[in-house]
Amino acid sequence: MEAAGAMAGRRIRVRGLVQGVGFRPHVWRLARMLDIAGDVANDGEGVIIHAWGDPAALDGFQDRLRREAPPLARIDAIQVFPHRGPAPRGFTIAASAAGLARTGIVPDAATCPACRAELFDPADRRQGYAFGNCTHCGPRLSIVSAIPYDRANTAMAAFTLCPACAAEYADPADRRFHAQPTACPACGPRLWLEPAPETGVDPLDAAAALLRAGGIVAVKGIGGFHLACDAADTKAVAELRRRKARDAKPFAVMAGSVEEVGRYCRLDDAARALLLSPAAPIVLLPRRPDGAPLPDGLAPDQDHLGFMLPYTPLHHLLMARVDGPLVMTSGNRSDEPQVITNEDARVRLAGLADAWLMHDRAILNRLDDSVVAATGGAPALLRRARGYAPAPLALPSGFEGLPPTLAMGGELKATFCLLREGQAILSQHIGDLENAAALDDYRVLLRLYRDLFDFTPEVIAVDIHPDYLSTTLGAGLARECGARLVSVGHHHAHMAACLADAGIGLAEGGDGAFGLILDGLGLGPDGTLWGGEILRGGYRGVTRAGHIAPVALAGGAAAMRQPWRNLVAQLRQAFGETWRDQAAPVLNHLPPAAPVAVLERMLETGTNAPPCSSAGRLFDAVAAALGIHPARIGHEAQAAMALEALARPHVATARPYPAAFGGADPVVVGWAPMWRALLDDLAAGEAPGLIAARFHLGLVEALVQATGRAGAGPGALVALSGGVLQNRIILHELQARLRAADWRPVIHGQVPANDGGLALGQAVLAALIADGRGDDRAKPPGI
Ligand SMILES: [Zn+2]
Ligand SMILES: [Zn+2]
Repeated sequence: MEAAGAMAGRRIRVRGLVQGVGFRPHVWRLARMLDIAGDVANDGEGVIIHAWGDPAALDGFQDRLRREAPPLARIDAIQVFPHRGPAPRGFTIAASAAGLARTGIVPDAATCPACRAELFDPADRRQGYAFGNCTHCGPRLSIVSAIPYDRANTAMAAFTLCPACAAEYADPADRRFHAQPTACPACGPRLWLEPAPETGVDPLDAAAALLRAGGIVAVKGIGGFHLACDAADTKAVAELRRRKARDAKPFAVMAGSVEEVGRYCRLDDAARALLLSPAAPIVLLPRRPDGAPLPDGLAPDQDHLGFMLPYTPLHHLLMARVDGPLVMTSGNRSDEPQVITNEDARVRLAGLADAWLMHDRAILNRLDDSVVAATGGAPALLRRARGYAPAPLALPSGFEGLPPTLAMGGELKATFCLLREGQAILSQHIGDLENAAALDDYRVLLRLYRDLFDFTPEVIAVDIHPDYLSTTLGAGLARECGARLVSVGHHHAHMAACLADAGIGLAEGGDGAFGLILDGLGLGPDGTLWGGEILRGGYRGVTRAGHIAPVALAGGAAAMRQPWRNLVAQLRQAFGETWRDQAAPVLNHLPPAAPVAVLERMLETGTNAPPCSSAGRLFDAVAAALGIHPARIGHEAQAAMALEALARPHVATARPYPAAFGGADPVVVGWAPMWRALLDDLAAGEAPGLIAARFHLGLVEALVQATGRAGAGPGALVALSGGVLQNRIILHELQARLRAADWRPVIHGQVPANDGGLALGQAVLAALIADGRGDDRAKPPGI
């Protein structure tokens, strides 16, 4: 028993993200303030504290450990044990114990308020310095090459601390105590502009002048190069789009402050908090109808804009020198990953940039900007990279004690996932593995993460698609390290990722749940292409309880890029060989040179026209019917995103299109009645936006009805996942309709609904299967 007034000894174990974030000096300061003796150290499990003092003071100490934790710390658990032995004098920070690797490293963080204040303080020695940081902010994953995380194993190894920086580094009372990337103008990285401005002209002033004059500047950031231009300059934006050739993706915009963002877009508290968070992601925000004007070329066909705030001192200094927002789009040629080295930037961005704002701190690991949708409801990550990776995600209950599992992810928007001890570590967004540079990154990052987290897999999870590069890599790795290889169904993995992301435990989500999984396509366990699925079951296994009626993917891969192909295939399926007689209102949307006759032969014979229940291609077909990008799209979601924006103003008043239901188990949803009504609307001259809204609502209504036909009882969990769930109309309307039917919708938050989240679901399912608690039947024939 601890007696009041007497000295008590306690051993306090703190778990979570508590290393490299200034946690030990936080403990040290509190202990000194509360007259507590003892010591604090990092070890393989987190932070360990030995503390002696008055029991009441110790209670206060424990409470404040959590409440006043440093901004980048995340405390998962504090455990307290009695501790015997004589109290030492004073409180010390002990040298770190061995075995640090298992706790990994925290994400890169935006410049903190204190560092920002120094940046603009004429009396501070870091005033105007582009690379200041402290334990509360700065680069982390982007500069690390090995564990343990200390300066020698980062890109800062090349810079020797000056006496002033070394003194701050060694002082527990200083904000820069053990801040590995700390730097100042005397000893740290330096900034320059290429081509060089006139002698004596500051590189930032010269870059800002170029931007104000309509130029395009490559800017080296935390995780890669951006291409910047004046976001309010229509000509500059158009020129940037022309130089990036074929790329129709929206440009992200950086604004100097939240207030400035508010001049263009509607902001709520959640969006504000996200913009200002240490992760500083791109936040997708609805444009204000009465907002200050910006060129349409920033985000063609879109009613949202992606805004972020400055997140490095360099950004702050640059934004202070220009008048308004800047485009900050990834520095690459279309479809390539963002460049990270100075050499690559000079070569690969030649012809794209007019000048290069560079520095000599190397980016070792590429980290794209993260993207979050924040409108209406909880924020949802669409791309999880800088600021979020590699922070571990806590798995819900029931996933303890599983074998260490590595999941390899999909093919597009690739990520991988390490699972162990109730946690999942999802890699940053890497990109499309068909791209050689992205595949290289994938390999390098996989080695790095295994090193950072001291991880050896016993189980390796892959998609059941045998041709995904991630599948091939996983099979090779399994042979190499003697791990068990487990194939996981694509859509089952989406469902499991959603359930796990939402914190649904194994007991609740093991069976009896439903999944509405809507995406482009993935291989189903029956060997056909799936993409509009109603799954019944849960973590332990699923059956296909319903799906969208398969329609031929005419021309295979060409159908992904040319929406008109899907329109013809849909109409022919709905109306048969005489489809042209019904389709008068859309015939003029078929591209003039489109080989329609060839396509019809394909559909007739089934040659190069595999049936596919894709939801994504249905969106493309409907968009094409309205004349939205019928000939060609630059990226998979382009037509669907335009359709969503067009529909939004009409959603509140539109009536859903009808659908047809066939089959019992599985239920099959057909679209002939929808197409009939849509063509009638077109013939009657209805507004395209209304038609788009009726389609969105019709899809939602059909899926909800089909879920009922598939046997969902009151209170059933319905997981909503797949890339189509990035569509905010579909997401919101599905949730509302499911709730109205007394079911419980489950949605994504921290992990993308698209294939970027696939690895989490794969990891969870494969670990269960290897543990004898999952269903291992999800194998297509012939694999
Ligand atoms: Zn700071
Ligand atoms: Zn220095």
